[in-house]
Amino acid sequence: MKMTTDVLIIGAGIIGAACAEALAARGVQVTIIEQDAIGSGATAAGMGHLVVMDDNAAELALSSYSLSLWREFVGTAPGKHEYSRCGTIWVAADDEEMDAARAKGDVLSSHGIECSLLGAAGLYEREPALRPGLAGGLLVSGDGLVYPPKSARIMLERAMANGTQLVMGKVSALLDGGVLLADGRELRAATVVLACGSRSAALLPELPVVPKKGHVAITDRYPGFIRHQLVELGYIKSAHASSGESVAFNLQPRPTGQILIGSSRQFGTEDLSVEPAMMKRMLRHAAGFTPALAGLNLLRCWTGMRAASPDGLPLVGPHPGRPGLWLATGHEGLGITTSLATAHLLASQLLNDRPAIAAEPYLPARFAALASHQNEHGGVQ
Ligand SMILES: Cc1cc2nc3c(=O)[nH]c(=O)nc-3n(C[C@H](O)[C@H](O)[C@H](O)COP(=O)(O)OP(=O)(O)OC[C@H]3O[C@@H](n4cnc5c(N)ncnc54)[C@H](O)[C@@H]3O)c2cc1C
Repeated sequence: MKMTTDVLIIGAGIIGAACAEALAARGVQVTIIEQDAIGSGATAAGMGHLVVMDDNAAELALSSYSLSLWREFVGTAPGKHEYSRCGTIWVAADDEEMDAARAKGDVLSSHGIECSLLGAAGLYEREPALRPGLAGGLLVSGDGLVYPPKSARIMLERAMANGTQLVMGKVSALLDGGVLLADGRELRAATVVLACGSRSAALLPELPVVPKKGHVAITDRYPGFIRHQLVELGYIKSAHASSGESVAFNLQPRPTGQILIGSSRQFGTEDLSVEPAMMKRMLRHAAGFTPALAGLNLLRCWTGMRAASPDGLPLVGPHPGRPGLWLATGHEGLGITTSLATAHLLASQLLNDRPAIAAEPYLPARFAALASHQNEHGGVQ
């Protein structure tokens, strides 16, 4: 069987679904291919924290623009996304971290992002479950959370209402102008978008994207235990390490009253099993910040694979050496937040519109491994 479409998207995680939605809304004939349930990869594993991150200007531009799109998107149906504008408190343990909170606050304020510095009293007034002795923190009030697989499904349903077709199947190879499915079907399109998250490199070996494993756990319902997403300022250091294992305090109040506990980071494994030693380390660390957590009933724990790029930024745009192949992958620990801005950037580039933020920092061509693919092979491969 052969089928022809304008744009073929491989992967119906939140990135593929968002891209399908954005393209279909602009009249593009899209087919999206998924091997498993919709949003069942990293999208189902993620915490769903919608958070402005500012480790560099490009990350800040992408995450803050995407957050503004999210607020618009959930605006019509916040309950459907299980959206809550809970805000983030970046918790400062000591004076040094308080300086980091102040510096972060200055950067965010200078970009018009609402935030306020909290002293110890302000911190405990908002979050009494935190252990005594902390210095304060930074409250970023526009941050929020969603239930990511639900949001991905809503995006896909909107795309399908605009004509997008969903094909269930596993892509086994990229072809010139299409893809080959494991069951022998061939799907043809002038443009193919690779949005397979941490599995993207299986179809594109030169892609500099590797899996980064994360553990998460969820408790029974304890409404009011915490009110904001709480993240230690030390998270920033561990989140961007490019090797080794680390855990960081990251606690989320779900709208159900459950507490979502994250997170860990590990390289060099594709095994999705829950590792008791890593889980124990993560939970101990979290209880170090909120001691009463140790007495709560844990319901479930799981893992997921982030797709990590060498510079921590996603790859959104054309492959420099394979005409017709576009990439939307490498979103690391921020792909729920940045999905809508990614879709906007991809659709704007494909349709030759001017994007709302500069596309250059996220272009795949910045990586020599992709650019040299063109040089070595003289173009199409
Ligand atoms: C533990 C953890 C916590 C996280 N927390 C947050 C957070 O709080 N906030 C945030 O913004 N981000 C968070 N993230 C990151 C976020 O979850 C990811 O960046 C995002 O889900 C990536 O979406 P994706 O669509 O690229 O990948 P995925 O969701 O993995 O989707 C890829 C899809 O492609 C399909 N696929 C793969 N190969 C093929 C093939 N050959 N043929 C057909 N289909 C294929 C897969 O089945 C899958 O459905 C977290 C991630 C993890 C692991």
